[in-house]
Amino acid sequence: MQMVKRIFKYLGIGILLLLTVMLVNTLLQSKPEFNKTTVNTQDLLKDGFLRYSESIRFRVIGHDDAVTNIEQNKSELQRFHAWMRKSYPILAKTARWETINGGSLLITIKGKNTGPAAMFLGHLDVVPADDSTLWKYPPFEGEIIGDTLWGRGTLDDKNAVIALLEAAERMLAKGQQPKNSIILAFGQDEETGGAEGAAHIQKHLLNNKIPISFIADEGFGVMKGIVPGLANDCAIIGLAEKGNLTLKLTVEIPGGHSAWPHPENTTSVLANALSKIENYQFPAKLEGPVKGLFAESAPYMNFGYKFLFSNLTITAPLVKSVLTNGVKTAASIRTTHVTTVIQAGSKENVVPPAAQALINFRTVPNHSSEEIIEQIKSLVNDDRIQISKFQGAIESSPISPSEGIGINEIKKAIHATFPKTVAVPGLVITGTDCKNYTKLTPRIYRFVPYTFSNHNLSGIHGRNEYVTIQQFTAAVGYYEYLFGLL
Ligand SMILES: [Zn+2]
Repeated sequence: MQMVKRIFKYLGIGILLLLTVMLVNTLLQSKPEFNKTTVNTQDLLKDGFLRYSESIRFRVIGHDDAVTNIEQNKSELQRFHAWMRKSYPILAKTARWETINGGSLLITIKGKNTGPAAMFLGHLDVVPADDSTLWKYPPFEGEIIGDTLWGRGTLDDKNAVIALLEAAERMLAKGQQPKNSIILAFGQDEETGGAEGAAHIQKHLLNNKIPISFIADEGFGVMKGIVPGLANDCAIIGLAEKGNLTLKLTVEIPGGHSAWPHPENTTSVLANALSKIENYQFPAKLEGPVKGLFAESAPYMNFGYKFLFSNLTITAPLVKSVLTNGVKTAASIRTTHVTTVIQAGSKENVVPPAAQALINFRTVPNHSSEEIIEQIKSLVNDDRIQISKFQGAIESSPISPSEGIGINEIKKAIHATFPKTVAVPGLVITGTDCKNYTKLTPRIYRFVPYTFSNHNLSGIHGRNEYVTIQQFTAAVGYYEYLFGLL
């Protein structure tokens, strides 16, 4: 009895000590003061907004059928390029413009020095708007209603393209020249993988031995209310992006009449394997950019969350179980998978001789396609099922450094533009053109300077995409400030 009492006593003291350490850890997270914003976002850029609206009328559309894209988009891309030269005359005269592979554009603003160039990406194509009759305003007219511009591409990705062009034109109009060169690189086919655009731009830069200090592309922006416990707006800078792998499962067993089925047939074997896979979840991991996101936002959180996120070494299991409850937060901490296609049979009374399924995996950093194939093979554990890669896999990206050249200047520009905004790292769960640029620099940052509300986000790749002049003015101000630092 005495022994049990003693154990409880020491256990109690232990827990108390641990709690004290966690509390001290929490209280030590002092909240740094925000710098005063210096970028003028009050004088709305009305002329620029009109140019933005004109850009929505260029219909460079990425369909899944690549052949149609190249043919249909060629002349539209040429018209779009010509419009840019006309609309940004100082940039057209001062910078070097190169057309890459017929439709992509590389604009180089020469710096005073010969150091590595900073490169800003955008893409000229958009996803289709096949449900155009259901939109509030036509998707390709660029209608401005009050302070809002409606249309496909207003937030993906003409927002980056136009804000970059406006900021470059304004910088040059003031007679300013960057210290080192600034390159604007606009791909023609990001929405269908970037093989015609970004991949060619990378090759061109490598062939010409153009050194790049860092790359800035789309991915995240200034997000409102998406980090639990954080009241401030949160500028998330994507340090990495997930990979994309699709596996094909095939079963072939002779079929026959459905009136005397064999208990083991193609569909039953495949269904059994799919159920094993669907019931499996890859482990959730709180590491890399996602861990950084919570650790770096912790000082600004309310006490409960601050306590939780300041002590991740101890609280990680709890945090992971909370994050796996939401589909988007779950996708940021584990490799996800879902069956997207199932095919078998063509007649109701014939047992199909072949059945197949496609499973799409989105992989977290450091989780390779080969590892996944091995894991799935051992999980299914059935020789009758062939498992192979369906088309090329895109591995998850390397993780860019969380400080130093590029990200330091990006953070400065965020604080100068967006009041009381916390800037933290993050992991992009979809794909961007960045995957085509990894040979140029290890410093790739996925952030566009637009404040996104949840309402805004639903329009991206969806219906009723829109942007406001206030969002646009802040973005131009951000780029102009950032260019001044380079
Ligand atoms: Zn995009």
